[in-house]
Amino acid sequence: MNATVFILLGSNQSQPLLQLQFALESIDNSIAAIVNASSIYKTAAWGNTHQAAFFNQVIEVKTQLKPMELLDKLLLLESQMGRIRQNKWEPRIIDLDILFFNQLISNQPRLQLPHPFLQDRMFTLVPLNEIAPKWIHPKLGLTINDLMHLCTDPLKVEKI
Ligand code: AMP
Repeated sequence: MNATVFILLGSNQSQPLLQLQFALESIDNSIAAIVNASSIYKTAAWGNTHQAAFFNQVIEVKTQLKPMELLDKLLLLESQMGRIRQNKWEPRIIDLDILFFNQLISNQPRLQLPHPFLQDRMFTLVPLNEIAPKWIHPKLGLTINDLMHLCTDPLKVEKI
């Protein structure tokens, strides 16, 4: 049976919009079928304000992969995208986080589900709320829309 999975894409380097587009197409072509995608949002970098602004997008995919298989494929895509444009290890130009995998709860360090910080970050909640406002967080028992209204993250998230 197909699982419903939400993935956060983020980039702040090497033409971020192109990186998001490349990651989205790679996921759809060779990892999991995309059934919905949010708009792209721009946010000032979290924590380190000297960095370039981040661009984020949330996608919903359907997959028959197991959670760890999906994680491995996303990590491989991250490293492939880093290697295409960079000779040595530098901060990644793409970040792929699994936000939810059905209503699964996992506390393994390699794969924490739901993603442990999603309720703290407007750059995650705002795009997620665009495509899944009624999705329920299985640990917190609240909808994405509730979580977004409760979140106190002050960073401005701007739809582009
Ligand atoms: P970061 O690049 O800071 O997002 O961290 C990547 C690491 O976080 C990977 O090695 C994953 O094994 C681990 N990880 C734990 N939970 C998750 C999750 N829900 N989605 C993506 N990576 C995760």
